[in-house]
Amino acid sequence: MANAEPYTAGAGVPGESWIERDAPARGAMLAEILAQVSREALQGEGLDDVLQRIVECLRRRLPVAIASIILLDQGGAHFNREVYAGDLSLAQPMELPWSVNVGAAGRCARTGQAQLIADVAADVDYVPGNAAVCAEYIVPIRHRQRLLGVLNIESTHADFFDAHACAVFDAIAEQVAGAIHLARIAAELETANARLRELSLRDGLTGIANRRCFDERLAANWALLAREGGWLALLMVDADCFKDLNDACGHLHGDDCLRELARICAGLAVRESDLAARYGGEELVLLLPGCELADAQRIGETLRARVLEAALHHPASAVAAQVTVSIGVSAVRPRRDLRSEDLIAAADRALYAAKRGGRNRVVGCAVDGSPPVA
Ligand code: GH3
Ligand code: MG
Ligand code: MG
Repeated sequence: MANAEPYTAGAGVPGESWIERDAPARGAMLAEILAQVSREALQGEGLDDVLQRIVECLRRRLPVAIASIILLDQGGAHFNREVYAGDLSLAQPMELPWSVNVGAAGRCARTGQAQLIADVAADVDYVPGNAAVCAEYIVPIRHRQRLLGVLNIESTHADFFDAHACAVFDAIAEQVAGAIHLARIAAELETANARLRELSLRDGLTGIANRRCFDERLAANWALLAREGGWLALLMVDADCFKDLNDACGHLHGDDCLRELARICAGLAVRESDLAARYGGEELVLLLPGCELADAQRIGETLRARVLEAALHHPASAVAAQVTVSIGVSAVRPRRDLRSEDLIAAADRALYAAKRGGRNRVVGCAVDGSPPVA
């Protein structure tokens, strides 16, 4: 078959410098392109970007009308992702995913063998995408025996795919396999890191946020509200006579009660910015941005009432025949001359007052040191 000659001399013509070179210079150029592909494989932002850079590089530097990387799904029966560079205009666009039973690329995936097609017009499986193409080389992309997809190169030069060029494309397919493998590991690491972060912020016993999460959210809310203005309320919730409950009914029952108290607290963290957390031991907190002291005390009363409704068995309580809670409430408009610890200290004072006042009650306390109010 005669060579099609779509490339003419002039700046920016793809493959121009290839055409002008003699055999040794072409060999050197292939080696240089292979090195460039290796660099691209390490430099891209995400897998799609890496693959796009690689096909663009091949298309730009070589007499290649279409360069594409087509990836297989997990089962290996369908192509589900394609990245290409070049002039591709299929009579019937191939909609992803498409079966490996279709096309010369499918044959490569089915057989696991590279396909060198010297004359595309004579190949029954070839799907024409560019009238100037006369030869095609398709290489399996494989990582540790597993077929990930194919690298497809379509050239306007029938004699372009000599042994040297094919060996270079085989090596490029290996680079691509490495890039895909790295990208998959990076994605798995990202998922694992997100899961770890989620775990590091959750309390193991109750499933609600832990102290670390509370500290982070308190600091973030404090900084935001100090800048933009607004109230920040804190409810410190402490189970009454909990040591006696453990002593009387065992720690497993105590744990069950703690989980139930956490569930009730979480049920009152209704807005997205609200947070219910385990502060430590049998102490829980509710952090409520945008909530004034009076509203926070009302929420505290609702919480106390819900704990009573839950009727958690407590035969050893000095307060009631069931589990009760004491709640210290405080609220403040964060300012630069105050610290978030001042809010915690005020809620603590209120909690202490609630305990002293007989337990099973809600007490509010302003941050400025004015006396606690039941
Ligand atoms: P008060 O009414 O003054 O709060 O009395 P209290 O017994 O609740 O207070 P204290 O701080 O003396 O004791 C808290 C108890 O909470 C001690 C500890 O055994 C129990 N506790 C802390 N963490 C856990 C936990 O994870 N599970 C169980 N079952 N008990 C816990
Ligand atoms: Mg306590
Ligand atoms: Mg207690």
